Amino acid sequence: MATWHGRVETTEWLTPTLVRVVLGGEGLAGLTMPDATDTYVNVAIPPVGAPYAAVFSPAEVRETQPKETWPARRRYTVRDWDAAAGLLSLDFVVHGDEGAAGPWAATARPGDVLVFEGPGSGFLPDPTADWHLLVGDESALPAIAASLEAIPAGRRAIVRLVCDGPGFEIPLTCAGDLDLLWLHRTGAVDDVDLLPDAVADVAFPEGRVDAFVHGEADEIRAIRRHLISDRGVPRADMSCSPYWRRTMTDEAWRAVKRDYVAAMDADVA
Ligand SMILES: Cc1cc2nc3c(=O)[nH]c(=O)nc-3n(C[C@H](O)[C@H](O)[C@H](O)COP(=O)(O)OP(=O)(O)OC[C@H]3O[C@@H](n4cnc5c(N)ncnc54)[C@H](O)[C@@H]3O)c2cc1C
Repeated sequence: MATWHGRVETTEWLTPTLVRVVLGGEGLAGLTMPDATDTYVNVAIPPVGAPYAAVFSPAEVRETQPKETWPARRRYTVRDWDAAAGLLSLDFVVHGDEGAAGPWAATARPGDVLVFEGPGSGFLPDPTADWHLLVGDESALPAIAASLEAIPAGRRAIVRLVCDGPGFEIPLTCAGDLDLLWLHRTGAVDDVDLLPDAVADVAFPEGRVDAFVHGEADEIRAIRRHLISDRGVPRADMSCSPYWRRTMTDEAWRAVKRDYVAAMDADVA
C-alpha cells in the first residue's frame, strides 16, 4: 500500500464532537481516489515522543523500532478529495479523551503532519437500484454524506442517523428524494436500539434496495440481521460493516473482528 503524508491546512468543528481536518502539501502529490463514496485511508498516529521523524514509513518503523513506539493505525473515510487544490478532508469523531485518532484530531494544528496508507474502498450507490437505505452513526457520516451527494434526482434515499442531540446534526445534500431522520442518544443503555428500531419502523418502498449500514458493531449486527431475516434483502444488495465497537480500542476490535463478522454471518445462515 502506498504511503502518503499531509500537512494540516485547517481544522473546523462541524459539531461539538466532529472535527474536519483538511490536509494538503507536497506529500499528497500523485494521490488519486477510486470512484467510490466510502473511500478510506489508514492513518498512522505515532505515540507522543516517538523516536522517528514526523514524516515516516509505517512499514520501516515496524521493521526497525520497538513495538511500543509503533504508530496507532486507524481507518478514516475520505470526505472529500479536491484533486485540483490537492486538499484531502477527513472528518474525525472526537469521543472524549480516549484513543489515538480522536485526540489527535481534536488538537491538530496547521502544519501538523498526518501519515497515511491507502486509499481503499468498496461502495458506490448502485445506479440500478430502485431506492437507497443509508444507516449509521457519526463515524459513517462522511461516507453517507458523500453517498447522498452521488444519488441522482428522482431516486428515493431513506436515511437514519444517530447522534448526541439536535446540536450534533449536520446539513446533508442530496439531489434525490430524501427521507432523513436523526435519532438522539439519551445516554441510556437502550441507545444501542435507536438505529435498529428506526430501521424496523421504515415502510420499505417497492423495488430493489441498495443498503449501506455502517457504524457501531452491535448496532450494525442487529440491523443486518433484520434486513436479511425480516425484510429478505439479499446480501449482494447491502454493504454492512462494523466500523468500531463499544468499549474496545481499534487494536482490541481488530483482534476479534474476524470472529465477530463470522458470528454475524452465522446469525442469518
Ligand atoms: C473503513 C472505516 C472507515 C471509517 N471512517 C471513519 C470516519 O470517517 N470518521 C470517524 O470518526 N471514524 C471512522 N471510522 C471509525 C474509526 O476508525 C474508529 O472509531 C476508531 O476506533 C477511532 O479511533 P480512536 O483512536 O479515536 O479510538 P480508539 O482508541 O479506537 O478507542 C478508544 C475508545 O473510544 C471508543 N470509540 C471508538 N470510536 C468511537 C466512536 N466513533 N464513537 C464513540 N466511541 C468510540 C472505543 O470503543 C474505545 O472505548 C472508520 C472505520 C472504518 C473501518
